[in-house]
Amino acid sequence: MSDGLAFSDFTTESLLETVRQWVAIESPTQDVAGVNRMADHAEDLLVAAGAAIERIPGTDGYGDILIGRIAGEEEGPGILVLGHIDTVHPVGTLAGPLPWRVENGRAYGPGIYDMKGGNAMAVAALTHLHATGKRPRLPVSVMFIPDEEVGSPFSRPHIEAEAKRHAIVLVAEPSGEGGKLTVGRHGIARYYLETTGKPAHAGAYHARGRSAIREMARQVLAVEAMTDYSRTITLNVGTISGGTHENMVPISSRACVYVLVPTAEAEAEVRGRLLALQPHDPDVKLDVTLGLYRPSYAKTPAIQRLYDHAAALLKGSEWPAAGERIAGGGSDGNFTGALGVPTLDGLGVIGDGPHTHYEHIEISCLVPRTRLWARLFETLSRDLVA
Ligand SMILES: [Zn+2]
Repeated sequence: MSDGLAFSDFTTESLLETVRQWVAIESPTQDVAGVNRMADHAEDLLVAAGAAIERIPGTDGYGDILIGRIAGEEEGPGILVLGHIDTVHPVGTLAGPLPWRVENGRAYGPGIYDMKGGNAMAVAALTHLHATGKRPRLPVSVMFIPDEEVGSPFSRPHIEAEAKRHAIVLVAEPSGEGGKLTVGRHGIARYYLETTGKPAHAGAYHARGRSAIREMARQVLAVEAMTDYSRTITLNVGTISGGTHENMVPISSRACVYVLVPTAEAEAEVRGRLLALQPHDPDVKLDVTLGLYRPSYAKTPAIQRLYDHAAALLKGSEWPAAGERIAGGGSDGNFTGALGVPTLDGLGVIGDGPHTHYEHIEISCLVPRTRLWARLFETLSRDLVA
């Protein structure tokens, strides 16, 4: 650990103002202009931190991917910092149900916890190093993603390509309860079930029909019965639709299953069972398709060393490491962890209420956590994860 770090400019006030500026730009995933305004702001900050900028224009209705690269003291594969700049909150949330406000040591605003606070801290740490004439030990690439909240369909190949060029991935997603860091994540997948029956007037000709909804109802029970809490496998039929009129035997029905699995083996097992589902009624067609998914990743010895290193750096701080967790929700860290690149996630802000109208952060975490980022940049080495 290096001495002489001057953290005098890491004040709670200055960091909170930085976070406020991030939150002031509303950037729901679908609003390309909003997400790109957020990217413009992040780009200005990265330039001020001494970064060389690359921008990958968004396609398919998504905003741009922004990458800022900062040279290290050493050359070679370095650290990839991942953050997403999109949120789930529609434009107008800031002027409506979730205005910026500071109350009882907490700051509220759309996306402040998930995950503009974390993005702001990671960049502020780099700005600090630059302003004090220092470089990170390893080269650092900061990658801001425009489509994480919908599963990163546009960004995934770019994230995976970058991860393969780096030795370590740090993710600025929010911390777990009380400041827990994330050392593994479950896999999540969406499956779509579609049943196609035979239509008939529900009065005189009911017997001629084959109900797509009736078939779907049986499939829903079969799918949910695959849930096994003892193995952390859950299948949730989250949405369902079907039918066109109450006096018609319904010709079609559609359902979406949200699957959570702890391991690649469990994922393969559940996938096999879902894709093998057969209709109970031979006259009804059943189609099962896999939608977006994020693979699971488990803690490796290298991730353990990253965690231990971060926990040591946090020792004695106002928010020491509160332990580790395997997170149920997905992040872009799923992609990098599943590739085998040592990934430490949950390095962002401490708070609560992601995706809600009480989303907030604990203001007192800003200084210690930004300091953690700066020290990670100064100290992380390839030896640690070799
Ligand atoms: Zn997030």
